[in-house]
Amino acid sequence: MTVRDHLVERMARPQRHRLLQGFPAVPAMSVAVPVASSPLERPPRIVRSFDGAALDVGFDEAAAELKRGKPAPVQISESDPPEQRARLEAHNTQTAVRWLEEEPRLRAIVDGGRRDEASWLNIDRSRDLIIGVIPHTQCVPRREACGFCTFPHDVANQTARARSVDAVARDARTVGAHEALRGRKVHAVYLGGGTANLSSPDELGRLLSELRSAFVLDDAELTLEGTPALFDGWFSSHLKSLSKQAVAHRRISMGVQTFDPRFLTLMGREKFGDAALVKKLARKCRDLEITTSADLLFNLPGQTVEQMEHDVDTAISAGLDQICLYHLVLYEGLGTPWSKDAALVKAMPDNRRASEHWLALRERLLRAGYEQSTLTNFERSDVKAGPKRFRYEAASFAPDRTDAIGFGPLSLTTFVDWPQRRGLKLLRRKSVKPAAWSGQDLAYRYDDVGLRLLFLTRSLATTRVELSRYTALFGTSLHDEFGAALDAARDEGLLSVDSSTVSLTPLGMFYADAVVSTLAQGRTQQGGDGVHTSDLLKERPRSEQYLSMG
Ligand code: SF4
Repeated sequence: MTVRDHLVERMARPQRHRLLQGFPAVPAMSVAVPVASSPLERPPRIVRSFDGAALDVGFDEAAAELKRGKPAPVQISESDPPEQRARLEAHNTQTAVRWLEEEPRLRAIVDGGRRDEASWLNIDRSRDLIIGVIPHTQCVPRREACGFCTFPHDVANQTARARSVDAVARDARTVGAHEALRGRKVHAVYLGGGTANLSSPDELGRLLSELRSAFVLDDAELTLEGTPALFDGWFSSHLKSLSKQAVAHRRISMGVQTFDPRFLTLMGREKFGDAALVKKLARKCRDLEITTSADLLFNLPGQTVEQMEHDVDTAISAGLDQICLYHLVLYEGLGTPWSKDAALVKAMPDNRRASEHWLALRERLLRAGYEQSTLTNFERSDVKAGPKRFRYEAASFAPDRTDAIGFGPLSLTTFVDWPQRRGLKLLRRKSVKPAAWSGQDLAYRYDDVGLRLLFLTRSLATTRVELSRYTALFGTSLHDEFGAALDAARDEGLLSVDSSTVSLTPLGMFYADAVVSTLAQGRTQQGGDGVHTSDLLKERPRSEQYLSMG
């Protein structure tokens, strides 16, 4: 297939208009530690670090057990009562049988040799650092997954939630103690993952204290994500405790989706907060010097352009500092509850109409004085020009200068070592294991080619690539390397090119996934384990196991 055919084929598919994850997608990642190589072995107990180093804990345990040798039998005395003698004899027999089974397994582990791995990269303490924390995967939708949600979402349960927060705090403590991280200044912290504000202010306070014991947060931006109603709940104590955090500035990110009562009912989100509440919260936050952001969905099934515009106008009139627009991802086979409803899928606009809606809404926000800072995010111009401009997203899209560390279920971590042209991406599973980034967690090692794609995909999430930056980082011209893909995207009206930048056109922003997929086509040889995000979401959190293994 030619590059041009690939682009056209990708443009015909459902679009996601996000580029949230960057290169590579989850299926290209592999399990963070090697699997058992022989049926005699348990999966190896290897602990991986965020620099890629692996420590073979299982080898040490097996070697120690072998050295101790066969457990000595318990001494039985003739004077012991008959039942006790019988019990001890049974115990000794069981121990001997267990050893017969255990010894070959231990020997196989030791004979197989240590599986330690040296670090893949050096951590550069001078780079910016951001922290993304997912305290738990719970929320309180009244309809399964609000009908459309592809984020992790589990039934709310206070005890499990508190345990999850404890477990995340322990990860932060353990990982933060590493000399490459301890005492690092953090640029931005994001407490998110859907409904982070379902955790109490006390729980989140504990989590932040744990982060503070390892990192310096005083100059950081701090964001808390969640639903409007929960920001209003607890007597607004989330807002009050956020306002007291010693950081550079604070913000909240609200999942609003729509203000339309009919669609809110369809989603089961009637009680999550209406226009009046969002307006009230924006006012309250201004008083507390907290900036506000809200996520809106558009292209809902059967939604008219007037309804979409009304949502955007309502968000503007609420005085929000940032408005984020997300085209609804919905197609047959997606796996969300709505995707199984043929009538809803049929009511979705085709790509041509969906992109026209995007263009109209984008224009509306620009005319109202908002500036586009990423593919989906629009900041009010005065906020963007000032010291409280939104930092986290911009930093997460700049792997040339920023590392990102994630804590919690399904959190992402990315470190880059530019001198060696290496990087590492780690994805924590939902079933959190004792040590972060070990066991079934997923990893991807960037080489030089991988880093080029990472830089491109992240840059395009901000809508543009600076050509001089690309040349400075990789020593080659973007056009020399990606000329065919760039030409194809430009001919389709998706990219504009001048002497200093390659930018997504407004239409290209809608088709950003197709553009990025075309740039990456055939460029990476690394095969992954083929795990899909939907597979990860199906996993149940096993926080008890996590806790018991400390
Ligand atoms: S959209 Fe938000 S509230 Fe609804 S299921 Fe997803 S994470 Fe939960």
